[in-house]
Amino acid sequence: MRQEIALKKIVEYVARKAASLTQKYDLDDLVSPSIVPMFEKSVEKMASALVKRGSGLRCNLCDKGPFTKRGMYLHLIRVHAKDIEIMVQEELRKLLEVIRR
Ligand SMILES: [Zn+2]
Repeated sequence: MRQEIALKKIVEYVARKAASLTQKYDLDDLVSPSIVPMFEKSVEKMASALVKRGSGLRCNLCDKGPFTKRGMYLHLIRVHAKDIEIMVQEELRKLLEVIRR
């Protein structure tokens, strides 16, 4: 349950990063401190994979847009929460493998 809540917050964190909005949570509160520096890089990578930046923001997953920052964030959360969740789980899995090595 706790993990479920954290995952939702991480999805929100990634969506906010992708939309260039200020963060509501601190990454240190969402994932284990030992993986924060590496996970920060994963978040950057996911954020740039999600959004096309040109004149305005466009969704890289379904090509909708252009959006405002707020609109981009809402689109990601409403339409692609599950996609982002899968990306986050994949990134966390890879990071934890690196740590265990
Ligand atoms: Zn989209």
